[in-house]
Amino acid sequence: MLPLLIILLTTVSCCGDAQPVDYYRAQREKMVKQQIEARGITDKRVLAAMRKVERHLFVDPLQQGEAYADHPLPIGYGQTISQPYIVAFMSAALKTTPETRVLEIGTGSGYQAAVLAELCDSVFTVEIIAPLGEKARNLLRVLGYTNVRVKIGDGYQGWKEHAPYHTIMVTCSPSHVPQPLIEQLAEGGRMIIPVDSHGYQQLVVLVKKQGHLSRQSVLPVRFVPMINAENREY
Ligand code: SAH
Repeated sequence: MLPLLIILLTTVSCCGDAQPVDYYRAQREKMVKQQIEARGITDKRVLAAMRKVERHLFVDPLQQGEAYADHPLPIGYGQTISQPYIVAFMSAALKTTPETRVLEIGTGSGYQAAVLAELCDSVFTVEIIAPLGEKARNLLRVLGYTNVRVKIGDGYQGWKEHAPYHTIMVTCSPSHVPQPLIEQLAEGGRMIIPVDSHGYQQLVVLVKKQGHLSRQSVLPVRFVPMINAENREY
């Protein structure tokens, strides 16, 4: 009994997690196999990132037991962290490389930004709710993600100073594709965005070629709305 207890105690992380580290690693493995690979995502870099990023650190301590479950979770201020499959699907759809410079709109918990940070050269992410953005910025710094920059502001306007971006990922839903984001997308670049039409959202992939945008709807989804500083929906 005593050796077992010692083994258990030594596997508990130093950061106050409620469960041993190996417990969460096993949960992540199960999540990747059953929710992501089983649904047809084969991109090896995305699968590796999903196996690596510790999703339970991005949710409320009371929700950690649910962190690897097959659904979104509340992160406060009426916002949610997306279902793991959607994070993987959107990450794969962007076809990133280690040279990619990516803009994310809707930092939320910072989880998607961490996944992108594993895949890309640099991540620029914009969050409109200041306390959420600040919390995510701190967590990403503590976790050692030096290639992520978080801005508090209205992501409808993008982040002009660092444009153009090879890829843009929007994780809140507007009724149309914001013109500033189209302008900040590089030639040959890809954007994925949940566009709302009369209460039905579709994930849309846009590709910019010779200044023209091709547009393809890829998946029905449900994201929180994109809002402006007055809390009005775009
Ligand atoms: N990608 C996040 C989940 C996003 S939830 C994660 O991994 O946790 C959507 C987020 O978009 C919310 O945090 C919401 O506050 C934010 N949001 C809504 N409208 C926005 C806007 N105009 N600009 C930036 N962020 C916005």
